[in-house]
Amino acid sequence: MDMDNDNKIQIQQILNIIKVSSLAFPAVAFLQYYAKMPDFLMTLRHEVLIISILLVILLVYSLWIFLQSRIVNKAVTRKLIDPIVSMSIALLSVILTGSYESNYKFLFIFVILFTSIECGQRTSLTVAGLSAVIILCVDLVYGPKTDVNSYFEGDIVLACVFMIISWTVGYYDNIRKKHIAYLKELANIDGLTELYNHRYFYDYLSDQIVEAEKKGFPLSLLFIDIDNFKYYNDMYGHQRGDDVLRSIALIMKATFSKGTFIARYGGEEFAVILRDYSEERAVFEAEKLRRAVQEHPFDGQESLPGGNLTISVGVSTFPVKARTYAELIKGADDACYRAKFLCKNRVEAYFSILNEFQFAPEVITQIKTLIAVINAKDKYTYRHVERVVFYCNMLSDQLSLDEDEKRNLIYSAYLHDIGKINISEDILIKTDPLTPDEWNTLKNHPQYAVDIIKNNDALEEVKPIILQHHERFDGTGYPQGLAGDAIHPLARLLTVVDAFDAMTSLRPYQKTKTYSQALDELRRCSGTQFDPFAVTAFIRCMEERNGVERCDKAFIYPAGTENIADLDSETPCSV
Ligand code: GH3
Ligand code: MG
Ligand code: MG
Repeated sequence: MDMDNDNKIQIQQILNIIKVSSLAFPAVAFLQYYAKMPDFLMTLRHEVLIISILLVILLVYSLWIFLQSRIVNKAVTRKLIDPIVSMSIALLSVILTGSYESNYKFLFIFVILFTSIECGQRTSLTVAGLSAVIILCVDLVYGPKTDVNSYFEGDIVLACVFMIISWTVGYYDNIRKKHIAYLKELANIDGLTELYNHRYFYDYLSDQIVEAEKKGFPLSLLFIDIDNFKYYNDMYGHQRGDDVLRSIALIMKATFSKGTFIARYGGEEFAVILRDYSEERAVFEAEKLRRAVQEHPFDGQESLPGGNLTISVGVSTFPVKARTYAELIKGADDACYRAKFLCKNRVEAYFSILNEFQFAPEVITQIKTLIAVINAKDKYTYRHVERVVFYCNMLSDQLSLDEDEKRNLIYSAYLHDIGKINISEDILIKTDPLTPDEWNTLKNHPQYAVDIIKNNDALEEVKPIILQHHERFDGTGYPQGLAGDAIHPLARLLTVVDAFDAMTSLRPYQKTKTYSQALDELRRCSGTQFDPFAVTAFIRCMEERNGVERCDKAFIYPAGTENIADLDSETPCSV
């Protein structure tokens, strides 16, 4: 963009020099003329006539421009004023300095030069033609009627020079513009897939958002990520992986209508911008793509988890689900992430559970701010929080919790780990076992979380749930060592959900379990670590709503592909 601006400024400088020259030379001509004419009053009538004609032409032309400017591109009309004015001045200079004998006929070259650069070859050829006609007409009108006009011969050559200059400069400018357009296009294209690239995606999306806002149409964004692609690469090598990327690009081009903006957003991530598509229509399109990829027989896909190469798609829509460009991208990204953790090979539209609650907007704002802080500090915790909120939402529906209970459970799910803001990243991302001191620091995070929200009275009922989410049913948890019914009932639910997600997601200090393995672990620790009621409810919820069997297929990481330390998988009930 800066390069573009620099280029425009430099060309404008060249144009200014030519335009100033096209005015400076006539000034010399006028001075020369009046210096030679002591009795210029004698000829005044003649000049007044010419000047009046020119003024009338200019006036009519300006009026025309004024009317046209309402319907025609202003830049184009503005560009036409300069040639007309400069040609008029050149004509005046020629007439004042001896008309057919004038040495100032070359002034038309300046006009031709800057119109070639500014308005392109066609306009400059017209200007050159007009200039040629003008100088030849001057010869015919002012030249001697009887004698042979020897200037006419020279002026025919000059007219040819006008045409040649306008044609060559205009042609050169065309080539230059085409070349720049080609280079620009090339700079916007991803070499491997021939889709648009990441950089251009951002430029294009921001332009589209501005237009969608102005014209009031919806804009949907799809984020697409290939499932288990790292495994495919590890197994068959990057070249075969690249073939898959190219095939998926072709499938995308075939699925969406011609002209749809498709970009390669990252290594194996794609983005599609659907102009004037509501969320519903965008989800329909996304589903069509998901099915097309699922049905495509990729080479070697039988070795992937689930025996198929698939994609996960997140959808977000402006302005319904996102009010800004940044929210739209984050929404599609979050939705894609949700599609991933809900077994992959699926399409998810963005929604924020927080927005469902019509309660205390300042609380929602505080929660969103704290979540944003976690997101910036520790991506893992942020993603974990999102998943815990999702499961808590399912669980509250399963248990038919009333509105207040559901809201308190969701709020505490959002906030249960914010205390980690105060814990050093070294501890949070450590892959080796934590030392006893480090464990003690980590164990402060429920109290830290409550400290952070202590002045917010609207969250009063949420504080005990957060504080107690690491208490164990048998009383051996922290920070207070509460047992059984002494623990807040919603904290007992949150503990189960928190532990389930910790077991099923990649954590630095623990090997991932499949959904079934994690549910088995919950059963095993029911009555000791977990409240049996909470365990039963959560298992029923998962089995009924999420299809654990199907998830298991997608979540099994083949041996050797995970890089997490197998540290405490033997420790009983130690999540
Ligand atoms: P998930 O299902 O969670 O998306 O798992 P995943 O294995 O696909 O993980 P992730 O989305 O993080 O995939 C990143 C992998 O994509 C890492 C790398 O092997 C692969 N990848 C990224 N860029 C390229 C590329 O240009 N060519 C090839 N062949 N592979 C790439
Ligand atoms: Mg990815
Ligand atoms: Mg992936």
